[in-house]
Amino acid sequence: MNTTLLHIGRAFTPTKEIADAGILIREGVIEAIGPREALQLPAGAQEIHDAEATAVPGFVDVHIHGAGGHDVMEGTGEALRAVSGTVARHGTTSFLATTVTANPEETCRSVEGIARYRARQHETDAAHAEVLGIHFEGPFISPARRGVHPPEWLKLPSAELLEKFLAAARGAGRILTLAPELLGAVPCMDAARKAGLVVAMGHTDATYEQARAAIARGARHAVHVYNAMRPFSHRDTGVIGAVLTAPEVTAELIADGVHVDEAAMKLLLQAKGVERVILVSDGTSATGMPDGKYMLGSFEVTVSGGVCRNAEGKLAGSTLTLDRALRNIVALGLPLADALRMLTLNPATLVGVEFKKGVLRAGADADVVLLDAGLHVTRVWTRGIEAKLPA
Ligand SMILES: [Zn+2]
Repeated sequence: MNTTLLHIGRAFTPTKEIADAGILIREGVIEAIGPREALQLPAGAQEIHDAEATAVPGFVDVHIHGAGGHDVMEGTGEALRAVSGTVARHGTTSFLATTVTANPEETCRSVEGIARYRARQHETDAAHAEVLGIHFEGPFISPARRGVHPPEWLKLPSAELLEKFLAAARGAGRILTLAPELLGAVPCMDAARKAGLVVAMGHTDATYEQARAAIARGARHAVHVYNAMRPFSHRDTGVIGAVLTAPEVTAELIADGVHVDEAAMKLLLQAKGVERVILVSDGTSATGMPDGKYMLGSFEVTVSGGVCRNAEGKLAGSTLTLDRALRNIVALGLPLADALRMLTLNPATLVGVEFKKGVLRAGADADVVLLDAGLHVTRVWTRGIEAKLPA
């Protein structure tokens, strides 16, 4: 029996703050949480005490392409091990492996590899961040807003091609990002929803009316809001106007201070509220690595000063980690509990795993992060297994 009692200065569930908290972990699951004095230390259990730390749920990243020198599109155990191990050191305990537009055959191979790794991960890499599933970003996106997605592999939305991707994913598909204004988007969105995926708008040139129609058809999420979208203007508000004003739609934000300026971040937070913003990394293989040249899917990106660009100089994902996103959002003046839910409870709810991820409560997976006073990660457990952090 593997039982640990964490006795921590305070904990955020994240919606509730518990002072002098106890978290009892048994066999990878939170058995009980509350004030330490209300909990018994079971016989044989180990107690870990840190009066200075703050315990929070492990971060959930629904949009990440790579880290630690590897991209999820490589689809190998080695690549996924590098990604999941790197992000765990920054507090991310589960994530959606996110594809980038590529040759569809290659996408299928990558997705098969991710599904294979996911099925065995608990045996091989238990201390790493858990691969919850797959976020398909591309190829059904707008050539006008493709960002760095390779133009030669963009496709009009196709329910048929989506079925191929989903078959390769063997039940691991979670989010489909598409541009809803494209021909074929409606049957593709319907097929995605039928398969249980969240439909997200992204890399889109949709007008306000087109985005509204997509929301009426079931689109519920918008990826890296402001980036790779038709720009907002007061007489042509576009997809951003629709996202900002539709309470049923959640909005991703890359809070690295490079992708979105501070006032635009504040506007998004005020319009959507703390329950509808989801912090994502959009991280690439360069995450956790020194400046240099890296691969994003099948193309090269250059990282300078931590900013990732392709050969045309366009922003190409980020090197952001979610612990840094948290610090950036808190620096805007948000209460810690509000900032925390944007990278724990909100993303977990989006993909329907809020009963076990992104939350500290009895019955949830023991995905726990300890933060110091400066909100730097000091210890991380994924399903009760502690990650090794560099000294
Ligand atoms: Zn993107």
